[in-house]
Amino acid sequence: MPIRLLSSEVSSQIAAGEVVERPASVVKELTENSLDAGAKNISISIADAGRTLIEVADDGHGIPSSELELAASRHATSKLVQSEDLFHIRTLGFRGEALASIGSVSQMTIISRVESAKEGARLRVNGGVSEKVEKVGAPVGTVVRVENLFYNVPARLKFLKTDTTERRAIDSLVTRYALAYPNVRFKITDGKQVTLQTAGDGDRRAILASLYGVDVAKQMLEVMATEEGLTLTGFISPVSLTRSNRKEITFFINGRWVQEISLNSALLQAYHTLLMVGRYPLTALFLDMTPEDVDVNVHPTKAEVRFRAQDKVFGFVQRSVRKALLAYTPVPAVSPQLWGNRSVPSEPRAVGIDWSIAHDGQLSVNSDEGRGTSSELQVTGYESRFTDDGSKVEGQKSFETGVPLLRLIGQIGSAYLVAEGPDGLYLIDQHAAHERVLFEKLMAQHESKSIPSQSLLTPEVVTLPPQSSKVLMEQLPFLNHFGFEVEEFGTNTFQVRAMPVLFAGGSPAMALKALVEDFEEDESPLAAEVEARLAARVCKRLAVKAGQALTPEEQRSLLNDLEVCQSPRTCPHGRPTMIHLSVDTLERQFGRKGAR
Ligand code: ADP
Ligand code: MG
Repeated sequence: MPIRLLSSEVSSQIAAGEVVERPASVVKELTENSLDAGAKNISISIADAGRTLIEVADDGHGIPSSELELAASRHATSKLVQSEDLFHIRTLGFRGEALASIGSVSQMTIISRVESAKEGARLRVNGGVSEKVEKVGAPVGTVVRVENLFYNVPARLKFLKTDTTERRAIDSLVTRYALAYPNVRFKITDGKQVTLQTAGDGDRRAILASLYGVDVAKQMLEVMATEEGLTLTGFISPVSLTRSNRKEITFFINGRWVQEISLNSALLQAYHTLLMVGRYPLTALFLDMTPEDVDVNVHPTKAEVRFRAQDKVFGFVQRSVRKALLAYTPVPAVSPQLWGNRSVPSEPRAVGIDWSIAHDGQLSVNSDEGRGTSSELQVTGYESRFTDDGSKVEGQKSFETGVPLLRLIGQIGSAYLVAEGPDGLYLIDQHAAHERVLFEKLMAQHESKSIPSQSLLTPEVVTLPPQSSKVLMEQLPFLNHFGFEVEEFGTNTFQVRAMPVLFAGGSPAMALKALVEDFEEDESPLAAEVEARLAARVCKRLAVKAGQALTPEEQRSLLNDLEVCQSPRTCPHGRPTMIHLSVDTLERQFGRKGAR
């Protein structure tokens, strides 16, 4: 075929393919336009999951009738003049493509009026072909009505999912925008039914409740952090509240919803070792920064961005989330009703361990500790223990993040330590606790780049299956950072010449095997995360096991070591290290207090 220029109809449909993928993308573009127009009320009506109708009405500043036709043309925008403006974008739109794209694949009607005009104007666009602008009566603001989406591109229609899925995509999009703009009133009407309505009173937690339910909203922890031109606000789930996928991880940057891989890994790194493998947090986080520091023009639907100082943003998000998280992580307490219930389901939550200690100011803090109950104070309490670089400061231990000083009572079942604290009884899982202790020691030594290593009297030779040895080959540099001395010693065979002193007496073969088992393709290219994960695996293998009797000295030193851990309450894989039976629970159980 000879080369020829495409007709404008075909080229605009191709362009539309990038921006308008499904009904939810139309809702996104129109909502963003309304927000850019300064709307305080945005009302969205849909029918048939958006297939036959999507209408977005706002009370923003409107479009002058003389510009209406231009608004619907390609590359026409009021938000940008010169190319350098691209680096100070404060609006959600700037490409001038949305209305043109939507108009080319639907039957679109725009009615708009600016405040200075007596009348409004209406423009109809049918499959990209504009009719004449007509005068109509209308309130100030804009209504964009999109009917029969993809009526002229049937191939696209075939790619739409079920109504339920398309509906859910719209709901989840609008709810997220509602969260990001809590001062704007959002409403979705499906047919005649109002399915979402926000108050526009700035209360983000209330919107969170409509997104995840009241229960979840109550448990979500608030994040508030600022550092050199960066601000992070919003909500993260406590470690007890997780999902099996990343879909509930929401990030907004400067009011724009993004799917940003680097932010996701910063977040996951903050949760690292606090969540079980394969579990993910729920978050609604809002990152604000000077527009000059972020390039939003790298993706057609602007779902990805590029940061000028990627590492700085990454570190900031990771630290801020981690801080908020550690400040709140409670010791699981045994709830009274389960005492005596012997069936132990596998999910820790179902055991009746009360993970969900309320965080909305109800967390009871010992008043004789001289602290209030506001979350801010709890965070401050945490900060006072650590300097900025995370090193420990001598002094008072945070009541919320640490464990109190414990008096050892003994060991039971060669598996658990029993101890008494000022507020009741603690049962400590010796294996999980030792894993945590080893992990923190190893990571601390690693950070200060001083992992003491000990040569083995006789180097040990370990043979691994081919697949595992391939993985191990890739991990060798990390291993050497951690004080191991391992080298290849023939096909699929390795020789261990030295181990970290921390693991003295442990089996080198065990350590190597730990490194390669359950190895999954790592999504994160970040060495730090990989290293922590590897360290956690080795610690798990080399920690004391249940069934191992410990001398009283060993028991005591384990407790002491645990007390100084940064996150003593969970093992590096996120399981609890201890169960707390409070004085109050004991008194209730023995009928000394309260009604039964
Ligand atoms: P962009 O948002 O990238 O500028 P659009 O195609 O989405 O491109 O919109 C084109 C122009 O139409 C916008 O720049 C804006 O001036 C105007 N516009 C679109 N929607 C609205 C609205 N709801 N209220 C006011 N003006 C609007
Ligand atoms: Mg736009």
